[in-house]
Amino acid sequence: RELFRRGLSSASPSLPPFDHSPRPYKGMLADEVLEKRKKFLGPSLFYYYQKPLNIVEGKMQYLYDETGKRYLDAFAGIVTVSCGHCHPDVVNAVVAQSQLLQHTTTIYLHHAIVEFAEALASKMPGNLKVVYFVNSGTEANELAMLMARMYTGNLGMIALRNAYHGGSAGTIGLTGLHTWKYSIPQGEIHHVMNPEPYRGAFGSDSARYAKEVEDHINYGTSGNVAGFIAETFQGVGGAVELAPGYLKLVYDIVRKSGGVCIADEVQSGFGRTGSHYWGFETQGVIPDIVTMAKGIGNGLPLGAVVTTPEIASVMSKRIQFNTFGGNPVCSAGGLAVLKVLDKEKRQAHCADVGSQLIDRLRTLQQKHDIIGDVRGRGLMLGVELVSDKDKTPAKAETAVLFEKLKDLGVLVGKGGLHGNVFRIKPPMCFTKQDADFLVDALDYAISRL
Ligand code: PLP
Repeated sequence: RELFRRGLSSASPSLPPFDHSPRPYKGMLADEVLEKRKKFLGPSLFYYYQKPLNIVEGKMQYLYDETGKRYLDAFAGIVTVSCGHCHPDVVNAVVAQSQLLQHTTTIYLHHAIVEFAEALASKMPGNLKVVYFVNSGTEANELAMLMARMYTGNLGMIALRNAYHGGSAGTIGLTGLHTWKYSIPQGEIHHVMNPEPYRGAFGSDSARYAKEVEDHINYGTSGNVAGFIAETFQGVGGAVELAPGYLKLVYDIVRKSGGVCIADEVQSGFGRTGSHYWGFETQGVIPDIVTMAKGIGNGLPLGAVVTTPEIASVMSKRIQFNTFGGNPVCSAGGLAVLKVLDKEKRQAHCADVGSQLIDRLRTLQQKHDIIGDVRGRGLMLGVELVSDKDKTPAKAETAVLFEKLKDLGVLVGKGGLHGNVFRIKPPMCFTKQDADFLVDALDYAISRL
């Protein structure tokens, strides 16, 4: 109780030295924002919290509401804020570029765009050296799917059940969660079993899941596919790490069928897993196309597709261009993000803080039966809540705990088909003290259910 009254300690040796108290806020209050949002923004199924928070300021891993109350943001916006909210280096880069030139695009030359592309390519393994900039994860996956189809001349795409790849007319087809779908003709998209250790029918047996992919290709397609897409760590689907070795087996099968392999790194890239810079590396594979967004810009609207020169060459059959993709402001911000992550050694930091966090969460699991599974790596973690030994999703309890955590000053993500998974993916400056605070808050909330 005392801990929550005192709030989080703002002292952290790994943070840039700046004041962690919010500025006075004199803007519009929550009720008015909500009223205008309902009037002008169109309905949504999707509000976080019964009374949505009016967030007015962000500093590193903290967010502040209109009253100045501080929240530990253990969801990084939406896994978007990699370096920290308003990280000074990113802000400075964006401001400096904005004062010089806010918009140009790839029909002209601009140094920021190529510098960023070069820096990004230097982070990629193998022959993944050609970068296309877009504005979001959805757009990145649209482009990847188009590339796969153009390059192979095939149409069939294979995706995982439980995946989220976007909500546009094309990517909604790749997404494998009914809550996000709308039935429009998709054509040739096959969803295969999810290699999910905790809930999957074959547990962690990657070979059996891979066989099912092969069967899909053999029985459900002409035998040739355009591509296979997967997140290594499913985000929206509830922080699910794919069964070990799965991607290696499936990439082989898909390539034999003429398809290319796409890794959706929109959530898992940039060192968040701690053990590797990219999620796919945790499975020992090199994809043919990698898509990324969210953390790439620390909150700026930015996405990218990186592929090999050979696959990229097919794009010269048409004009590949978009107005904002790789604009200089986002490019300057994105380059600053890459530099910050290196300079502050964020990958190692994620490994270090993440291992303490996962250990403490696993200890908490021993104490509370409602915690069915604790999973993930680094600062890419999931806590799945269940009502019984049959793993019945504890939907109602999750909703209650979600609100309670918010009241205690901790924001987590919620995910999974049944909304019974807490997704813990904070900005990568999250500290061990923050990890302790989060676990204590969860313990406190569960104990009072
Ligand atoms: N791919 C993954 C793995 C995602 O988590 C998301 C968004 O949550 C997307 C793609 C779509 O990205 P965006 O919302 O930027 O369009």
